[in-house]
Amino acid sequence: GAVLELRNVSRSFEDAGGTLTVLQGVNLSLMPGQVTALVGPSGAGKSTLLHIAGLLEAPTGGEVLFQGQDCGDASDWERTLIRRDGIGFVYQFHHLLPEFSALENVMMPQLIAGLSRREAKERARQLLNLVGLEERETHRPAKLSGGEQQRVAIVRSIANVPAVLLADEPTGNLDPHTAEEVFRQLRRIISATRIAALIATHNHELARAMDRVVELRDGTLHEIK
Ligand code: ADP
Ligand code: ADP
Repeated sequence: GAVLELRNVSRSFEDAGGTLTVLQGVNLSLMPGQVTALVGPSGAGKSTLLHIAGLLEAPTGGEVLFQGQDCGDASDWERTLIRRDGIGFVYQFHHLLPEFSALENVMMPQLIAGLSRREAKERARQLLNLVGLEERETHRPAKLSGGEQQRVAIVRSIANVPAVLLADEPTGNLDPHTAEEVFRQLRRIISATRIAALIATHNHELARAMDRVVELRDGTLHEIK
């Protein structure tokens, strides 16, 4: 079954000009090992949808279910635990910690989750190997190329093997060739780990290479592949 499910989700914002409805009647199920691309023009609500799916903000209406549990019924603390252990995030800009090496950056979430330094280091090494960065372990982010930084951010986001990966324009600041390469590796990791992934992107060509494509248009979600 679905790992993460949005049921009839709506989101609107109140401002001086009235009510802005960004999402309306959105239904979406994310399945293990499946990569869903989320497309739509700038301002269509992709980030808003990802924030709701990631339990970072509440929908105005509808439900968000994580492994069958209605997150609207959960306490703030329970939602924090679901986010920490169940959901990985990748952003357009990598948010790596500048003072730490690539290896330490990937170890960090595992240390926070309670793994020993030794275990965390071993897994971080395996993950960096997986994306061809074994030679870059000791480098700080500033010493890595944009594509390398983004690969570190991706393996960091899945270091704790979350059930769900949410990515907001993960290759948005990369050149087309590097973007394609990062996407390819992301895809490989996802099928190997059976993570359910939702990836917002402007790049329709990359989107079409995903298992499934959904598009936000006028606040509603359309299945286009
Ligand atoms: P996308 O990620 O597709 O570019 P967003 O989800 O960032 O779109 O934004 C969708 C719309 O919602 C935009 O019109 C944006 O201005 C509006 N919006 C997003 N967050 C807020 C907020 N906190 N308050 C008011 N309006 C918001
Ligand atoms: P009430 O029980 O008063 O209707 P809710 O259960 O809808 O309130 O929400 C309680 C708090 O949890 C609010 O701060 C809301 O923003 C937040 N919240 C509810 N559902 C979610 C969700 N799916 N993700 C993140 N925060 C949520």
